[in-house]
Amino acid sequence: MEIIKVAPRGYCKGVVRAIQIAKEAAKQYPQEPIYVLGMLVHNRYVIEALKQFHIHTIDDKSKTREELLDQIPSGVVIFTAHGISQQAIEKAEKKGLKWIDASCPDVVKTQDIIKEKLQEGYEILYIGKKFHPEAEAICSLSSRIHLIENIQDIPSSLQTSKLFVTNQTTMSMFDVEHLFQAIQTQYPHVLLCEEICNATRVRQEAIAQLKGQEIDTLFVVGDPHSNNSNRLAQIGKEQGIQNVYLIDDVTQIKSSYLIDAKKVAVTSGASTPTYLTNQVIQYLEHYETDQQFPTICINNIL
Ligand code: SF4
Repeated sequence: MEIIKVAPRGYCKGVVRAIQIAKEAAKQYPQEPIYVLGMLVHNRYVIEALKQFHIHTIDDKSKTREELLDQIPSGVVIFTAHGISQQAIEKAEKKGLKWIDASCPDVVKTQDIIKEKLQEGYEILYIGKKFHPEAEAICSLSSRIHLIENIQDIPSSLQTSKLFVTNQTTMSMFDVEHLFQAIQTQYPHVLLCEEICNATRVRQEAIAQLKGQEIDTLFVVGDPHSNNSNRLAQIGKEQGIQNVYLIDDVTQIKSSYLIDAKKVAVTSGASTPTYLTNQVIQYLEHYETDQQFPTICINNIL
């Protein structure tokens, strides 16, 4: 079995920065309870490892960030890499919480572009995922922002000469291109602005380049909540790779996945700890002689 280590893969600068900010908060406020509003980055091992720094995650997928704030009585709140709404910041201040913003600069850049276009009087079509915190923060900006997940969501009769289209930073570049074309067909005067972040783009391009390399199996190491990990798996399937598996960690590899595997590629999402991906690669490299899973040690995650 041949193993292809796809590059680039794993942590992006926004995730490294958010983790660093959280660790510094733990040093700065040793006596205060510290909470993260939602998952700091979309990986359950990172959330678990943060507990060692006495940083607790407040998460409930059915609640908005503002609603989640009700569960924090006092102390310090960290806003995640996915961005935060002004309303949530104001609510944290009213509650007397200290707040720290770990929003990724690439997410903030997209927010700023949208704010500018709203001020200029544009109606906005925003390609993103419902219930994703990045989309939630953007949609809270104005009722003139329409969330588009697929072609059916494109409004059929917007009466405006000023229409601006952009996207969540971690979408599939192929899906965004496809939706841009569909929107432009309907609204030829539209202003398009593609905002996929560079980390997402280069990881997706690396998967697209696997086409024609006779890869039969692709492992994407990533949390099921991670949009960018899901998009890597989706693009792998779209490239015609027969078996694509999104796995949290090495222990999710079943022997049935490898029965006929000859050429196996491994990548990982932007929020996946390198340690977890390395365990998968090492397991596959020694699979023919040793099929015992290694122990996953939480101390090695951050
Ligand atoms: S995936 Fe992109 S937008 Fe998200 S944290 Fe990383 S660099 Fe920032």
